[in-house]
Amino acid sequence: MNSSALLRVPLGNIIFPILFPSVTTRKMKQLLGIQPQEEMTLRALVLDKYKHLAIQEVPVPACRPDEVLVRVRACAICGSDVHGYDGSSGRRIPPIVMGHEAAGEVTETGEAVSCFQPGDRVTFDSTIYCGTCVFCRAGRVNLCDDRRVLGVSCEDYRRDGAFAEYVAVPERIVYRIPDGLSFEHASLVEPVAVAVHAVSRAALRLNDTAVVLGAGTIGLLAIQALQRAGCGRIIAVDLDDARLGLAEQLGATDTVNSAHNPTADAVTSLTGGKGADIVLEAVGIEETVGAGLACARKGGTVVLVGNVTPSVSFPLQTAVTRELNVLGSCASSGEYPVAIALLARGEIAVELIISATGQLEDGHAWFERLHAREPGLLKVVLCP
Ligand SMILES: [Zn+2]
Ligand SMILES: [Zn+2]
Repeated sequence: MNSSALLRVPLGNIIFPILFPSVTTRKMKQLLGIQPQEEMTLRALVLDKYKHLAIQEVPVPACRPDEVLVRVRACAICGSDVHGYDGSSGRRIPPIVMGHEAAGEVTETGEAVSCFQPGDRVTFDSTIYCGTCVFCRAGRVNLCDDRRVLGVSCEDYRRDGAFAEYVAVPERIVYRIPDGLSFEHASLVEPVAVAVHAVSRAALRLNDTAVVLGAGTIGLLAIQALQRAGCGRIIAVDLDDARLGLAEQLGATDTVNSAHNPTADAVTSLTGGKGADIVLEAVGIEETVGAGLACARKGGTVVLVGNVTPSVSFPLQTAVTRELNVLGSCASSGEYPVAIALLARGEIAVELIISATGQLEDGHAWFERLHAREPGLLKVVLCP
């Protein structure tokens, strides 16, 4: 549905597009100073207080000159949304519309937009970067000085996200998706880009041995990205046998259940005493960070992606005396085209990672189930 269908001014809707086919009805009304008879609204899933989501009618966001308005067709629930839902992260201060992993169709474009038009199937970055600061100009948009994240409200800013029928986003963060890629699968381009970015931070070499700590969404996507990047051996570590089973199906060559086997001992014996060339930490708690450093080989690389706890005690002497490269990895910077191509070609598969697809109306129930850590539930995609 485009914006003109939401306005109840039939005469204008008929005449303006005939006279000015390239100008949207809403824009033409603004030019002529005609106010819509009623404010256009959309249905959104609003976090109105911690642990409570409700469907509300909210105004359709204004499409600024450099923005496109997207009719959201799929938006996946991220682990960070679940930590925002219960207030534990402090990054989703109510009221807020969450959601930063999404795909949909362009319905309206601002006057300065040149690369997109209504009808385009798209996805977009979760990071809204300025495009002009020193980091953006160096291509490190994830480090933008004015970085904002879609669907996040913290002390510094508030930006409504994509658990809604429409979202307005700057053109510079939008990417076209191929026709063969469904909206549900395309909603996972964002976490795929996060996984690809983490792997690219590691600068691995052909036939390297990698350890992935945590077989959640990012871990399972990283396993596939590591395999595509040429790893010879990929050891997946988790506490959950079902997730380790998925890891094996998606390319892990070995699995370690750390509830029964200490991670470092298991990796040491699997690698003949040497340790892993690359370790990717996708949990973010003290135990797994410590285990990650302990199972890297001398001179190896540890990429830290998980960050559910703000600080952990750090095995300083292990890092110093074994000359480890310990790297942080945040969101993505320029990996969207690669992520879209890998998904479209099926070289990174998300069928097994998406546990369920639901309606926006059922959002609260899905958040409760994810928050309760229901066994077997990994990624849930909501379709507004
Ligand atoms: Zn996310
Ligand atoms: Zn910037």
